[in-house]
Amino acid sequence: MNSKKALNREQWQSLGKALKIETRAWIGETYCTSTSGKTMPVISPIDGREVAQVSQCGSDDVNRAVGAARSSFAAGSWAMQPPGARKQVLQRLADLILEHNEELALLETLDAGKPIGLTSNNDIPGAARVFSWYAEAIDKLYDQVAPVAHDGLGLLRREPIGVIGAIVPWNFPLMIAAWKAAPALAAGNSVVLKPSEKSPLTAIRLAELAAEAGMPEGVFNVVPGLGSEAGDALARHAEVDMVSFTGSTAVGKQIMRSAADSNMKQVSLECGGKSPNIIFDDVADVAGAAAAAAMAVFYNCGQVCVSPTRLLVAASIADEFMEKLLVVAGQITPGDPLDPSTTYGALIDEAHLARVLSFVESGNKAGATLLTGGERTQVVENGVYMGPTIFSDVTQEMKIVREEIFGPVLSVMSFRTEQEAIEMANDTDYGLHACIWTEDMNRINRVSRQLRAGTVCVNSNGTLDMSLPVGGFRQSGFGKDRSLMALEKYTQVKTTFIQFRDA
Ligand code: NAD
Repeated sequence: MNSKKALNREQWQSLGKALKIETRAWIGETYCTSTSGKTMPVISPIDGREVAQVSQCGSDDVNRAVGAARSSFAAGSWAMQPPGARKQVLQRLADLILEHNEELALLETLDAGKPIGLTSNNDIPGAARVFSWYAEAIDKLYDQVAPVAHDGLGLLRREPIGVIGAIVPWNFPLMIAAWKAAPALAAGNSVVLKPSEKSPLTAIRLAELAAEAGMPEGVFNVVPGLGSEAGDALARHAEVDMVSFTGSTAVGKQIMRSAADSNMKQVSLECGGKSPNIIFDDVADVAGAAAAAAMAVFYNCGQVCVSPTRLLVAASIADEFMEKLLVVAGQITPGDPLDPSTTYGALIDEAHLARVLSFVESGNKAGATLLTGGERTQVVENGVYMGPTIFSDVTQEMKIVREEIFGPVLSVMSFRTEQEAIEMANDTDYGLHACIWTEDMNRINRVSRQLRAGTVCVNSNGTLDMSLPVGGFRQSGFGKDRSLMALEKYTQVKTTFIQFRDA
């Protein structure tokens, strides 16, 4: 399925109905069902329809996948290939992802309710770019020579770690899987990927495309399953050398415990956020900043780890800013994800919508003022939709300000001084991302240095540029995805010292 012509809603709908969906795990060099025979439903949030029953892998299947990964690593079928050879396979995989853009975009949209215009133009091509970025990088990296005495040679060589367990969430299923798998594979590791039980379809398809690209048997495995079963088995497995996790802070903490209780495997944790967006009174373009604030916080229905959900506006411009923000928020309306003109789709599932609505209730009970939204909306029958929701008159103690909601809910507060804004921004357990809007260079320097966040964006909400690492401070986790730093993460330095006899 790869037509270049733009499709309309009806065409996407009929392609969706005709789509043959692969539902099994990929272990070694083939698709296989779970050992127990158990399956789990994939319910589309577009309309509540069951689109597939996917293999529900358990610890037996994780054992088999880790065994395949370990064997491939020990045999050196991938790890010992020259970087230039690994590059070719990863580049071919990137090309195959692009060739299957329509199919993968459709799977992502059916699975996660993301608008088809975004999955086909952003998510899937973006995932392909991740593979080609690491393919391009891997044969251009040098190791180091240490400045030891003249009768010796000290080599600091980066080696792959071994078997990497990658555990990913549902909000950008293929993209985040690519952020893990591409650098881990480029560095020569073998990988077992556990997609979210809420969005396993593109990861399952990725495994077959990787094999088609030339990935040797056992190097890349995919085990769909529940977090408490397949995820937990992977995190505790003695033959897994590292778990690279993206998900909630609560599960991130559990991964640390599982690693400690098993083989002290390395962990990398990309966890939750509650990011501040600080609008200073010297912002050059109030309307532009208000539009950007709304677009950022409501992108992907707010189901974005870096979503700037705490808006801090200078009191002197707060009225003007809010007026403009509400206009833009009013223009963002949920639509059918299969309609190419839709930019705001469905939430991931009923349980998540109920959780988001419980936060709305908590805001109302705590005395915050609900300016817009706050309820389920009807778009497609039995679908999971909720429009942009904005609270004002919120205080730092309220649950809607302290906890990650991971939905389309914005809390607005105002401040009087720069120091007050910094203190409010840092008054959180998280530290993933922060935005500031100002024209004052000295303020940019002062404030960006004091914000406790892994990324600070100035006059911007951020970018998906692969050269910039992402990763948190504090309870947003540790370890960086993207950039060359991810390659460092998936390698370990071996020191080799050689003594010469005749120096
Ligand atoms: P989650 O923590 O519920 O699940 C994430 C993954 O962990 C899933 O694959 C799940 O099956 C698995 N899992 C669950 N319990 C497990 C266990 N006990 N052992 C091992 N694995 C287990 O998160 P989610 O609801 O899928 O995703 C939303 C969260 O992800 C939010 O908190 C969001 O901020 C975070 N996130 C962070 C980033 C980042 O880069 N920091 C990016 C995207 C999402």
